[in-house]
Amino acid sequence: KKVADRYLKREVLGEGTYGVVYKAIDTKTGQTVAIKKIRLGKQKEGVNFTALREIKLLKELKSPHIIELIDAFPHKGNLHLVFEFMETDLETVIRNTNIFLSPADIKSYMQMTLKGLAFCHKKWVLHRDMKPNNLLIGSHGQLKLADFGLARIFGSPDRRFTHQVFARWYRAPELLFGAKQYGAGVDVWAAGCIFAELLNRRPFLQANLQIFYTLPSVCGSSDIDQLGKIFAAFGTATPSQWPDLAYLPDYVEYQYVAAPPLRSLFPSASDDALDLLSKMFTYDPKARITAQQALEHRYFSSAPLPTEPNKLPRPA
Ligand code: ADP
Repeated sequence: KKVADRYLKREVLGEGTYGVVYKAIDTKTGQTVAIKKIRLGKQKEGVNFTALREIKLLKELKSPHIIELIDAFPHKGNLHLVFEFMETDLETVIRNTNIFLSPADIKSYMQMTLKGLAFCHKKWVLHRDMKPNNLLIGSHGQLKLADFGLARIFGSPDRRFTHQVFARWYRAPELLFGAKQYGAGVDVWAAGCIFAELLNRRPFLQANLQIFYTLPSVCGSSDIDQLGKIFAAFGTATPSQWPDLAYLPDYVEYQYVAAPPLRSLFPSASDDALDLLSKMFTYDPKARITAQQALEHRYFSSAPLPTEPNKLPRPA
């Protein structure tokens, strides 16, 4: 039985933020695809209409480093999004202790990630939910960003499902301070966290990072806790580095803590890698490096050059 007269359903691949994802064959092209079924149940007709119109825009977003949205259609009260099928994702690669990632391999993954980001930011589309399991890897090692723009169309996926709490590790400080107006910098911050995770092979600003730190009285909010982790790594953000800081909706003054040397957090990183990291982790989003500027950083032109995608290590 074909879906929309075109797709032959195969096995379920997993349950995601917005609903179930299954594998299918596109009988029109013979291509293997992944179909994301998005529950629209509780939304009003008008919202669906807006979603469909925005989805149309995403279909135009074509780049070698973005997962292609092949088709989108409503079916039995669900919105179906058809994407190209990908073998694995960056989270699986990072967690696989049998895979050795050389400095050149890490550079290659970061270059592909930033190319995808720079492309979308140029078209004024933000990702807003960058994390290693949204960076999918194809059979030839090519990395592509998945779920671009979906967070904006369907609402921030945070906390809707329990596994989503992990996404907090990648949230930029301006989001944690409740900024309502924010820009492409949130994706660059998250990409910095992914860079850090590739270097250290574990989530960077994660719950069990050691902090010798006194939290303010509002302690208990997990966004506050996440800010504590960020400040323990880079030092407390101050209005002198970030003039707009004190005007953010959820701003609270933190006890001052000094940053440890960045080198101590990334013992294996090159000087160029550290310099790029520090620019991606700039507190003031207006001063933070952009994805395009990051691609032009000398880290990418200095030796070792990025590994060719088809030569990247893969799970046995
Ligand atoms: P999450 O919301 O947790 O990021 P997703 O909705 O993106 O999860 O995906 C759910 C599951 O489907 C995951 O196991 C993911 O690996 C798989 N998946 C998603 N997109 C694709 C794709 N294009 N190709 C292959 N597998 C995919």
